[in-house]
Amino acid sequence: MNVFRLSLIALVFLSTAVSPGLSVAASSRDAALRTYPMQALAPTVATILDVPAPKQAEAPPIDSIVNDLRGAKQVAVLGIDAFGAAIWSKMRDKTPYLNSLATETNQAQLRSVLPSVTCVNFGCMITGGSQKTTGIKTFDSELACEDLCSVLRARGLKSGGFGIKGWTGDRLLGRYADFRVKEKNDDLEVLAGLMEVVDEKKPEFVIVQYGNTDKVFHAHGPFSKQAAEACAGADAWLQEIIPWLRARGYAIIITADHGQHDVPRANGTTGGVHGTDSDLDCLVPLVWLPSADRAATPPKP
Ligand SMILES: [Zn+2]
Repeated sequence: MNVFRLSLIALVFLSTAVSPGLSVAASSRDAALRTYPMQALAPTVATILDVPAPKQAEAPPIDSIVNDLRGAKQVAVLGIDAFGAAIWSKMRDKTPYLNSLATETNQAQLRSVLPSVTCVNFGCMITGGSQKTTGIKTFDSELACEDLCSVLRARGLKSGGFGIKGWTGDRLLGRYADFRVKEKNDDLEVLAGLMEVVDEKKPEFVIVQYGNTDKVFHAHGPFSKQAAEACAGADAWLQEIIPWLRARGYAIIITADHGQHDVPRANGTTGGVHGTDSDLDCLVPLVWLPSADRAATPPKP
């Protein structure tokens, strides 16, 4: 056996023995997750709350979520703006709380509708429709289809839509929901306002846009040091809002409207953008949890 052949064998051995091990460590979690269309979220919430899906919804409900959360009297959708699945993967050491919630059986991924921007995807979350169905072009657009808040209202159930002043959570979700908060300048102010509304009005459905992640990712790139700190901030926010809502009877669905990808700037720095059909822009986390009382006494099968 000559030296060349020996080194070739060694190389083959290394590539089979080492590299699959490395890639398993990096990607097994993502590879195992099922991916559903963003259009499935509104029908899923509707089914949990035992109302019909909005008429023009383009996907069926997600069975595994319905099975786990069915019978909940209240549902909260927490949308972490721009928190793509790849960003969560990269920033896991910054999200210990979210990591602790997600097990093998209560997570999947959603694929954003196009363009992968905020108003179009939050519009989808409350209708089940892609852009051609919702007609959403800006957060001030009028929905061209039925929305979940109206379906609930027709059955005597209430909804709340929340976000920072001038953002989609405020201008679009707040406009279609029964309850909103006004003039909130950051995510913590929104949270305080949401808590007041929930305590006073007890809406059956709430949806909230957490905004700071998108802002920081645009400014510094979604994989930057600053982005890592923004993810830690989102995790702390989740740790505050989730136990609070679960203790009040809410089942929880955590997701994002879209992801982001790096973009080099002319001055040599890196920023972040989104809007394309790439996995970085479109694959987002999906984690669900029953309310605290139902987690304590799970329903009989
Ligand atoms: Zn954005």
